[in-house]
Amino acid sequence: MNYQELAKRYQTPLYVYDFDYIKNRYISLKNAFAGRKSLLCYAVKANSNLSILKLLAQLGAGFDCVSIGEVKRALIAGAKSYQIIFSGVGKSDDELSQALKNDILMINLESPAEMDALEKIAQSLGKKARISIRVNPNVDAKTHPYISTGLNENKFGVDIQSAKQMYIKAKNSEFLEPIGVHFHIGSQLSDHAPIIEAAGIVAKLVKELKALEIDIKFFDVGGGIGIKYENETEIDLYDYAQGILGELSGLDVSIVCEPGRFIVGNSGVLLTSVLYEKFNKNKRFVIVDGGMNDLIRPSLYEAYHEISSFNQEGETSLCDIVGPICESGDFFGKNVNLPPCKNGDLLVIKSAGAYGFSMSSNYNSRARAAEVALENGKDRLIRKRESFDDLISHEKDFL
Ligand SMILES: *Cc1c(COP(=O)(O)O)cnc(C)c1O
Repeated sequence: MNYQELAKRYQTPLYVYDFDYIKNRYISLKNAFAGRKSLLCYAVKANSNLSILKLLAQLGAGFDCVSIGEVKRALIAGAKSYQIIFSGVGKSDDELSQALKNDILMINLESPAEMDALEKIAQSLGKKARISIRVNPNVDAKTHPYISTGLNENKFGVDIQSAKQMYIKAKNSEFLEPIGVHFHIGSQLSDHAPIIEAAGIVAKLVKELKALEIDIKFFDVGGGIGIKYENETEIDLYDYAQGILGELSGLDVSIVCEPGRFIVGNSGVLLTSVLYEKFNKNKRFVIVDGGMNDLIRPSLYEAYHEISSFNQEGETSLCDIVGPICESGDFFGKNVNLPPCKNGDLLVIKSAGAYGFSMSSNYNSRARAAEVALENGKDRLIRKRESFDDLISHEKDFL
């Protein structure tokens, strides 16, 4: 079934994901670490559709979650609790408590205050909390500032010295068990060098901890492997994995990796239909039925998405492709070369599988799009389009 038939069957705007592609991406990264103990924890925030989580769980993936909601999604999709990691810069007491009750693999701590909170909660539950600490290695990931996370000026993690103090404190606690170390320096990285550099810095910490009889078993290198949106160079998986392994010689640790975008980014497209075309003086706009509430990356990060049209007739010229939302930032592409567009023409916005639907909203009281999976040549709905009733269901009883 081609995109035009899918658009007819399920309406637009519509997210379509290639599940065979997702499988291949998972397997290729897993294979890069062959011969070493490794756990790939898919970063749920990239795309948290339950059917995608189920597909990955069946392949043996673990999950990196940044809210208790994501932990619950992973569990419902069939994840094993001992393959779930809970990360994030601010977790509430309730979230920490639920994570402990679910007996997940480990909770990733990002501050001494959070460790104190967790210790109290573990004590009250009579549990020993398995933890890792997110270290900020102060390495420049050389990516967009909004998705760079490994510098001291970013809010994430703790510096190496503070981390060491935290590990010593955790070791001496009856209710904490330090088993992992974690870093994640940024997203959409096109060069593996900063990750390898960070791995080296953190490996040194792990050796110091071993000397203090703090036995780190999981070495978590985070996510961040970039993908091709336009003409970016892609990280070579072999060089990436071997580079990390090279920094870990002499250390008996399992490698944990948290890919999000790498797994799903290029699996997905957003299909959107043209409403109208118009000219403001000489400036050409193509107005489509999808908006920044469906895919916010262009507005938020000035991210590039390739856009193509099914209609190839007529002379191409430059246009801005914009949505119906009342914001000047509501665009999918600027200065895109397209043939004349008319009502009903279908546009394909590529590379929309990661941070697309998961960042979508109901802004302008727009119902969120439907999602469809393609697998083994067949299509199926994996999230139905929201209705107006869904939008008002939390409010209508208060009138
Ligand atoms: C967002 C995030 C990831 C995934 O990042 P990608 O760039 O999508 O691979 C992994 N780990 C942590 C802690 C994150 O915050």
